[in-house]
Amino acid sequence: MNDDDPLAGAHIDTLAIRSGIERSHEGEHAEPIFTTSSYVFDSAAQAAARFSGAETGNVYSRYTNPTVRAFEQRLAALEGAEAAVATASGMAAILAACMAFLKAGDHVICSRDVFGTTVNLFGKFLAKFGVEVTYVPLLDTAAWRAAVRPETAMLFLETPSNPLCEIVDLAEIAQLSKQSNCVFVVDNSFCTPALQLPLQSGADVVVYSATKYLDGQGRCMGGAVVGGAEQMNEVRGFLRTCGPTMSPFNAWVFLKGLETLRLRMDAHSRSALEIALWLQQQPMVERVYYAGLPDHPGHAIAARQQSGYGGVLSFLVKGGKEQAWQFIDATRLMSHTANLGDAKTTIVHPATTTHGRLTPEQREQAGIQDGLIRISVGLENVADLKADILCGFAGIR
Ligand SMILES: *Cc1c(COP(=O)(O)O)cnc(C)c1O
Repeated sequence: MNDDDPLAGAHIDTLAIRSGIERSHEGEHAEPIFTTSSYVFDSAAQAAARFSGAETGNVYSRYTNPTVRAFEQRLAALEGAEAAVATASGMAAILAACMAFLKAGDHVICSRDVFGTTVNLFGKFLAKFGVEVTYVPLLDTAAWRAAVRPETAMLFLETPSNPLCEIVDLAEIAQLSKQSNCVFVVDNSFCTPALQLPLQSGADVVVYSATKYLDGQGRCMGGAVVGGAEQMNEVRGFLRTCGPTMSPFNAWVFLKGLETLRLRMDAHSRSALEIALWLQQQPMVERVYYAGLPDHPGHAIAARQQSGYGGVLSFLVKGGKEQAWQFIDATRLMSHTANLGDAKTTIVHPATTTHGRLTPEQREQAGIQDGLIRISVGLENVADLKADILCGFAGIR
C-alpha cells in the first residue's frame, strides 16, 4: 500500500465514490463523459510509441476510453482485483472470458441453473468451435468432481442461483478448480461486490451483467470481467480485436451507479428479507426461497460468504400455473418483466418465461415448479409492495 494514496486501506463504500477519478485540466468535480472515438498525438514519434506499445496512452476507443477506464478502475477497486475490463453487455463479458481462456477441444463444467443465455452461448456458439460443456447441479460437489476430465479448462457458476437462491461454497469449488488446473469463473451479477467478493473465496475471474444491480435503475446494457492483470490482458486483447466494448455514456452511468451500490444493495436486502419473512406467514404460500431465511438450506454458507442476501426471492403459491398467473395478473404496482436488479420491483413466472425452454422433466429436476413466482425486490416502500402482493393473492380464484 502507498502511504501517499488517500484511498490506501479505504472501505468499499469510499472506493465506490472516490476511486478511478482522473481529473482533466478543467478540474471538473464529477466524472466527465469522453465521447470521442479517437485521440490525437503530440508528434509522429508519440504516435509510433503509442502504436508499438512503448508508451501507454489512448489511441482509439475500441482499445481505451477515459470514462470506460474510470469505471474499470472503480470496479476493480471494489473487487480488490488487479484489473477489470468493461464490455457491451453481460453476455459480452461471458463471451470475452470464454474467448480469453478457452480453445478448441476444451471442456467446461457449468452449474445447471445459470442464466439461460449463457447456456445458449455454450450450446449454440462455443460448441461450433469444439468446446464441450457438462452441466451439474450447483450443490452436488461429487458431480462437479466426477465431471472433471483431462481437457477440463473452466468451471463456471452463479451463486445465489436463479430463481431458487441456492448457495454454493465458493472455496470448495475453488479448491477443485486449483486441483484440476482450471480457470474458476463466477457470475456475480446477483450479489455485486457490495455483497460478495468471489476472488477472496478463491475464484480466478468474476463476470458481471452491469445491466442489473451495477446500474440498478434499468437504464443501460453493460458488463465486466474482473481478475488478475495478466488474465485481464487476454480479455482486453479479445475486446480490442473483436470490439464488444462498453460505450463511454454507459460507463458513466455505471460509474454513478457504483457510487450508490452499497446503499442500494443494503436496502434491496433489507426489504427482500422483510417480504420473505412476511410471505412465509401468508396462507396461500407453500414455500419461500430466500437465503436470508434461517431455515433456507444455504443460509449458513450465505451468512459466511455474503455480507447480505440480495434482492431476489422466489415463492411457491398453492395450486400451480393457473394460480401463479392469476396472482401476477392481479398485481398492479410491480413491473411484470423478466428483468431484475432495478429500483423498480419486478415479478415473473419462471416456468413459462425464463425457464420456459426447459422440458417439463428438466424443470422438475431443477425444482422450477409451476406455482413458482420470482420477485426482484426494488426500492419502493415495503408496505406498498406488501399491499400489491395482497392484491395478487386476492386475484387467485
Ligand atoms: C442478465 C444476466 C446476464 C446477461 O447480461 P446482459 O447484460 O443481459 O447481457 C448474465 N448473467 C446473469 C446472472 C444475468 O442476470
